[in-house]
Formats: sequence, C-alpha cells, structure tokens
Amino acid sequence: MGKGAWASGVRAGCSQAAAGPGTRSLAVKPPLPPRLFFLLLLLEAPGARASGYETCPKAQPNMLNVHLVAHSHDDVGWLQTVDQYFYDTKNNIHYVGVQYILDSVVSALLAKPTRRFIYVEMAFFTRWWHQQTNATKAIVQDLVRQGRLEFANGGWVMNDEATTHYGAIVDQMTLGLRFLEDTFGADGRPRVAWHIDPFGHSREQASLFAQMGFDGLFFGRLDYQDKKVREEMLEMEHVWRASASLRPPAADLFTGVLPNRYDPPVDLCWDSLCGNKPVVDDAGSPEYNADQVVGHVLYQAAVQSQHYRTNHVMMTMGSDFQYQNANMWFKNLDKLIRLVNAQANGSGVHVLYSTPACYLWQLHKANLAWSVKKDDFFPYADEAHAFWTGYFSSRPALKRYERRSYNFLQVCSQLEALAGPAANEGPYGSGDSAPLGEAMAVLQHHDAVSGTSKQHVADDYARQLAAGWGPCEVLLRNALAKLSGSKRDFAFCGELNVSVCPPSQMAKRFEVIIYNPLGRKIDWMVRLPVTKGAFLVKDPNGKSVPSEVVTVPSSDIQGPHPELLFSASVPALGFSIYSVARLPARRPHFHPLPPTPLEPKTRLLTIKNKHIRAAFDPNTGLLVELENLDQKLVLPVEQAFYWYNANIGDKLSSQVSGAYIFRPEQDAKPVRNSAATRLVKTPLVQEVHQNFSAWCSQVVRLYPGQRHLELEWTVGPIPVERSEDRGKEIVSRFDTPLETGGRFYTDSNGREILERRRDYRPTWDLDQTEPVAGNYYPVNTRIYITDGKVQLTVLTDRSQGGSSLRDGSLELMVHRRLLRDDNRGMGEPLAEAGTDGQGPGLWVRGRHLVLLDKAEAAAAGHRLQAEREVLAPQVVLAVGGGTPYRRGAAPRKQFSALRRELPPSVHLLTLARWDSRTLLLRLEHQFAVGEDSGRNLSSPVTLDLRYLFSAFTITHLRETTLAANQPRRAASRLQWNTNTGPVPQTAPPALDPIAVTLRPMEIRTFLASVQWKENGRTNPS
Ligand SMILES: [Zn+2]
Repeated sequence: MGKGAWASGVRAGCSQAAAGPGTRSLAVKPPLPPRLFFLLLLLEAPGARASGYETCPKAQPNMLNVHLVAHSHDDVGWLQTVDQYFYDTKNNIHYVGVQYILDSVVSALLAKPTRRFIYVEMAFFTRWWHQQTNATKAIVQDLVRQGRLEFANGGWVMNDEATTHYGAIVDQMTLGLRFLEDTFGADGRPRVAWHIDPFGHSREQASLFAQMGFDGLFFGRLDYQDKKVREEMLEMEHVWRASASLRPPAADLFTGVLPNRYDPPVDLCWDSLCGNKPVVDDAGSPEYNADQVVGHVLYQAAVQSQHYRTNHVMMTMGSDFQYQNANMWFKNLDKLIRLVNAQANGSGVHVLYSTPACYLWQLHKANLAWSVKKDDFFPYADEAHAFWTGYFSSRPALKRYERRSYNFLQVCSQLEALAGPAANEGPYGSGDSAPLGEAMAVLQHHDAVSGTSKQHVADDYARQLAAGWGPCEVLLRNALAKLSGSKRDFAFCGELNVSVCPPSQMAKRFEVIIYNPLGRKIDWMVRLPVTKGAFLVKDPNGKSVPSEVVTVPSSDIQGPHPELLFSASVPALGFSIYSVARLPARRPHFHPLPPTPLEPKTRLLTIKNKHIRAAFDPNTGLLVELENLDQKLVLPVEQAFYWYNANIGDKLSSQVSGAYIFRPEQDAKPVRNSAATRLVKTPLVQEVHQNFSAWCSQVVRLYPGQRHLELEWTVGPIPVERSEDRGKEIVSRFDTPLETGGRFYTDSNGREILERRRDYRPTWDLDQTEPVAGNYYPVNTRIYITDGKVQLTVLTDRSQGGSSLRDGSLELMVHRRLLRDDNRGMGEPLAEAGTDGQGPGLWVRGRHLVLLDKAEAAAAGHRLQAEREVLAPQVVLAVGGGTPYRRGAAPRKQFSALRRELPPSVHLLTLARWDSRTLLLRLEHQFAVGEDSGRNLSSPVTLDLRYLFSAFTITHLRETTLAANQPRRAASRLQWNTNTGPVPQTAPPALDPIAVTLRPMEIRTFLASVQWKENGRTNPS
C-alpha cells in the first residue's frame, strides 16, 4: 500500500472532517411519494433481491445509524515480504504479524456475540486457515455463518487498478472467491468489493466486479478536488455505469467513497499502532473521559452525515495491519457503543457493529435515485502537487515480468486443460499450474505490479514468479510429450530478450516447438540466438522454409550476436514443430545487406514491407514518416526519447518525484536530437538501429507481412546527478501534425477504451496544478490519438504511464530512476540498481508497436494485435531425437485443440483445469459497440460449443458469474435506482451449448465437464 504517510501527517480525511462544521439537523429524509414507493416495492420483489443480508444487525429507522466496521488492511507485501508480514519475522520495519491478527480477532469475536469483523486478503487468510485445527475451523465457520466474521472483496489480494491486466484481475479474484466458496459456501460469499487502498480506480475494475456479482464497491482514495465536490453535491455514493458496451445494469455497480480514506475518525483509534487514549468510563478515575469520547463521536458522526444522503454512515475502525491485539480495539468499541447508545437525552445517534455489506443493505433499503458516473477515478492526487501517476511506470522490468508471466500462465493452464491428467503426472515428474497461478495473484496486489514496494519485497515478488515458472515448465514438458506423442529433451529459453539460449547456441540439430494460445492460427517470426553459420529449417511437413542468420550490430549492450530467423505457421490453440539443422557450410545463407548509401538531405532512409513504410531522416536518424500502404495513408511521425528532471521540491511544494508520485521539474528534454543509425535489410527482417546515447538505443523493425512498426527500446542505466539526489524519468514521444483537440485515448486494464482530455475531468471543473503529471493516465496495452480520420495507436508490452501533452503528440514513460522517497510510506527511493542489487542501475528493454490506420478501421488492427501481444506464442526447444510417448504412438508435429478457429471478435480468455473432470472456460467478445464498422467485428457472434474442441468432449456445461463462484442464473444482485431513469431487468438467457451468443465486450464463463480423448489423437483443424 501507500499512504498519506503517518510520518508526514498527510491524513486528508481526518483533517477535513475535523475542520467541518459541527452541527446539523439529523432529521430523517422526507418520505417517498406513494406511487414511487409502490414502484420501488415492485423492483424489490422476491427474485430481484439478493441474499446474504439475513444476518445484518438491526438499525434504528429514526436515528442516524453509525456503522462501525472493524477491519485490518493487510498488504500482501509492501515494506515486508508476504511471508515476513504473515509471520512477523522482520519486525524492525513494521511490528506486525498477520497470523496473530487472525488469531486475535477470532478470540475477540468469540468473547462477545455482537462484535463483527471483516477480512479481505485471501492470500493471508488461506495460509492461516490451513494451519488451524479442525476445532478452530469449525468455530470460524460458525462465526462466518452468523455474519460475525464477514469476507469483503475476497480476492487473493486487493489488486491494483492502474497497472493490472483484466485477465490477471479475473484470475486472482477467481482464486480467492473459489477458496471461500469451497470452504464456507454461500455464507462466505462476499457481497461487497472493498478496494480501500488502490491509488485511483479504473472503470474496468468496477465492470468486472459487477460481472462477478458484487452488490457494491467501497473505496478510500480519490482526487482531493473530486472528493470536495462530491461531498458538497452529496455524491460520495453513486451508481458507476462501468461499461459503454454492456447493457445496463450488467456493469452497473453501486459505489461508495469512504469518508476518511479507510482510517477511523481522528482520536478514535485503539490499536497498539495508534496511541490514542482508551475510553475510561470509571467516573472515579482521574483519567475519566467517557463524556468527551461520546461528544467527539457524535460530532464526527454529524460531520460525516453532512456528506451522505441517508441516515446511515460508516466509520472504518481499523487501518494497516491493525487488530494484532484485537481486544484493545473491541474493548473500546464495546464501551463506545454502550455509552453513545445510552444517551438518555436522545442524541439521535445509534452506533452499531456492522459490516460494509450491512451498511450497503441499509442504503439499498433507502430507495433513493442515485447519480450515475461513466468515467473513472484516474489520475489520483492527494494534494495540489502530488499526482500518483509515477507508479503507472515504476519498476518497468517487474511490470514486464508480470505481463510475461500472465502469458506463460495462460499457456500452462491451457496445456493442463488440453493434455488432461497426463500434464500433472508424466515422464518429466509433477507439473502444476497452481504455484504460478498463486504467484501471479500475489503480483496483482496494489504494491506489487504497481512498483510501490521496497526493493527487497520487489525482489521477493520476482522470486515468487520464478518459483511458479518451474512447475509450469514440467507441466509443459509432460503435456507437449503427450500431445506430440514423443518424449524429447525439452528446453526453455527464458532470456531470449537478451539473446541468450544455450540449446540453440550449442546444438547442431534441434527442434523448435511453437505453441499458440490464441483461438486463431498465426504466423510468427521465430528468432533464436545461434552461433555463426547457416541452418536448414524444415516445417512440420518436412518442407524447408526460408531462414537466415542475421548478425545484430554491436550498438547493443551484449555486443554483436547472430540470430536465426524463420517464419513459423502455428494452428489455433496448438503447436507446430520445426526442425533446425546446422549446415556444414561456414557461410550464412544471407548476408546482411550493407547500409544503403545515402546522400544527405536528398533521400530518406526507409524500411518497407507490403503494408507499411517507415522513413527516417538521414541527418538525425529519427523516424519522421509512417505510411499505411494498404490504406494509402501517410503521416509525418517524429519519434524520439526525452527525459524529465525529477523535482526535488520547489517553492510551490516540497513534493518530490518518487515511486508513487510523478512530479517533473519542467518540460521534457531530448536525450539527444539525433541518433547514430545502422540499417539491416534482409529478406526476413528490416531494422534501423538507432543509438541515442550510451544508455538509450532502439531498433525499429519490420518483418514481412507485419502491419505494425515495432520499436524495441533499450534504456538504462539512467545517469543521475548524485550531488543533488536528482533522478530522471524517460519517455518515448511521438509527434504528429494530427489535430487532436486536446483528446487522446487509453485502455482500461487492457479492455475498454476511455477518452482523455488534457487539463480536464468529466465530472468537475479541474484546477490543474501539474500540467504534465496531472495529464498522465495508466496505459495497460494501448494509447492512441486521432483527428477523426486518421488514428495513430501505440501498443505496449507492459503497463506504462502515458499522455498527450500537445495536440498530435503522444508519449509513454519507459523507465524512471529516482533518488528520493516521495513520502507516501515506502521509505526508500525508487533507484533500482540492476544486477542482484549491485549493478550501476537497471537497464530495461521493451517494445512499442505502432499502427497507423483510418480511424474507422483502427480497432480491427489494435484489438487483434494486442491480443497477440498478451498471449504470444511460447517457444520450447528440444535437443536430440525423441522417443515414443507410448509404444506404437506416432509422433505428431502439428496439433490444434480446436476443430475450427474462433472468429476474430472472440477471444479465448480462459481455458484451465478446474478439477479432475471439469474445465473453466471463458469466451470474450473483444470488440466494443460501434468500434469496428469496416469489418463488422462489433456485431454479436454466436458459437456452437459442443464440437468446438478436439482435445476433449464437453459432456455438461454450466454457466457461472465471471469469477465462477455462482451459477449465473441463480445469481442475483441488488438493483439500484438511478436519476437517469429505470433500466429494464432481463434474466440471463438460458444456456444452449449449440448457440452461445457473445455481445460486444461480453465475457461468458463456463464450467465444462469433459472427457479427454485418451490417446490425444485428434486431427488438426
Ligand atoms: Zn495497501
């Protein structure tokens, strides 16, 4: 997490509340007109009403009800690692142990039946649970049944919302909610999403929560200007219409902003981490303070209620890692409740132990028409010069490792599903996707992939991912052996991005297995490091295919190194096996062509295939023009790298740039105005190598048939000025003459697109205080600009911050190195050292894919290319010959698990093992309403699932909510009235496996009982 750090005293909620006026009539709201009341009764009719609220405490209808929510916010790693937090083994940093919190809370709940507590992070709870005796488990189950221990959110972690991909969010929520469903049944099913700490909130997150069946969402952090306006307008609580494509109310989510972030009101914190005075109600004691406490509670309740519409308010009684001594908290809350409710003179205030779900239930019963929000809560600023837009890009290497691991986990899960039990136990030992699944879930935590943990914790996150890859590699070996009918000496090359792969560099003969996780066939340029020489490459049918060895120039960190290139064709959800043999000839097939001689200022340097032409200024070496040859579009595009000087505090504010916060000192400066270039042109690849400086270079690349321009950048170690502790933040910027009217577009968690406008917020009049940082937004997979006719899109390979600071311009932050801490609790600067923490600074490599299209045709390009980026093929090598998987089994060099390809608008989001006979299947329409007019890819599409898969037969199909914890037809959500009028309620369609229809942006989730084809012998499609 990050906080309005204790040290800095930035606790906006408390100070604002304390400054507010102290009196207000607590009159109950006027009764509803009879006709409206009748209408609302109809809406509340049985069937429209969700269950799960039966155990809620009774409120007082004619009083102000103060819901005390006892909670502990337990970060799944931040200042300490997950294990250190659980066991409290590094207690010189943060004196907490989550195991003691849960022990202590259970004892305290048992001591008094009125007490309630909520718990959130399943990464911790499951670990604790598995260490309990059966007797304790039975007690806890009872507490859950009675509603005294309630789960909120229930994901493995409370995930970040800015730097996460929707697929990984869905996975981590599924993991946590499944544990709850398996362990506690419907009693443990959370009704409320609880994202109290993430640093800004994405619209897609709300949409996903709605699709998972949540009734409401509460969070703590939003822009300080937004909060002020919402308090004044009584819009702290509203309905978030979180999709522009899904029909309301499918993605409508009731959303409440908590009054005080997630802390208790000032002076009402009774934990060993707080130090507030306990409640002393012994009138004979000189320490007596009961009257004061009561007066203070009444005052705080009155202040809070001024900003909310019902006669209910919530006080969050807890904070980070609190309740290690739960008795301290509960003993004082018991007294507070007794004393306030005993006010003989009738304070009009009723205080009760409650939970977020029970509070939500009361709001629902209030039958109000709520306002509707359609944009998101980015960016988040907690002060005028403190925009939390730095973490969009912090720790770029970890962000890439996380995205790459998402890719690998999907490959692993798919092969586990396709090969059946043989994937888990096979000739290579025990394989399992679960460890990587859990590691990936941990990485979604709001201090993990966000890049806001301490360095040793970030190292531990990477360690967890690496530990998860191992069992998946075993699984892949088992599955590929079974599906290909041949046991081989499979090898993985995890360092292809730095051109290291011993098997391809050493062996004279090897096989390349390319697995394609997409539902459509692909052509893919395989690129493997080799030693010099020539090679013969044969496709699965034994036909030789064009290949070449290209020696990459030495402008690179590793120096020159030869790479073997060939284009592979891989069927949908399957693999192709290519064989490679070193030829005796010493000379390579193709020599790189010498750089084209150029006459200065008379010609442009160009690379070109049949779809794209990119031109470079011969004097500066910069990209200056892009042409889409199919659509006959030419656009001047200048691309270069720039850096921001990190602010180290100035006369406006002492705020510095850090892991959370981006605060540049002034406008960006070019790394250099020109780049030294080298051109590589061969039949299989054309590259312009640009060297901007010793720490900044780029390869601009085109393969035959490719419809985008690939920019592979390498940045670091970033030079910094130690004398001033001043860091730098590096961006790649694209400048065009497009007239964009201050608008640009970014994706929300990799799915729907949101329009952004410079110096503007859709729901309030912005007072812009940071013209650069205040215009940065999260980019998970893409950002684009358009003038309505032409669109320039840039796809990213990880989450980054991005913006358009001038019309026609677009930029992405690729790397940052900062020497000061930004005072939000992390307590150390973001100055990644690189190699084992001992290096001179981290260097990072990544790719931007650039697409130029007519606006109306652009979605087809960026949707399908982004899908290929997120689920790229997995390359596995095999050295030496294979032996039959089982006697008589003929080896197979090509395989598809689909009988027919999926249409382009359908994305196979999940195919994974659920249990020994069941698979989890998610199909998604990956286009938004109206997005693709050219090819009609935004139309609904209908699939027949019965004979879709060739690797197994589906014997029974059940449809569930998005996180697979409830049958879809039985699931019901609270329906909310809005001030934009009623929305028609439609029951989910009956499931017909022959005709499963997907509407734009719809995800449908199924649990499929299957029978695997025993010998795996099915024909490729
Ligand atoms: Zn946190």
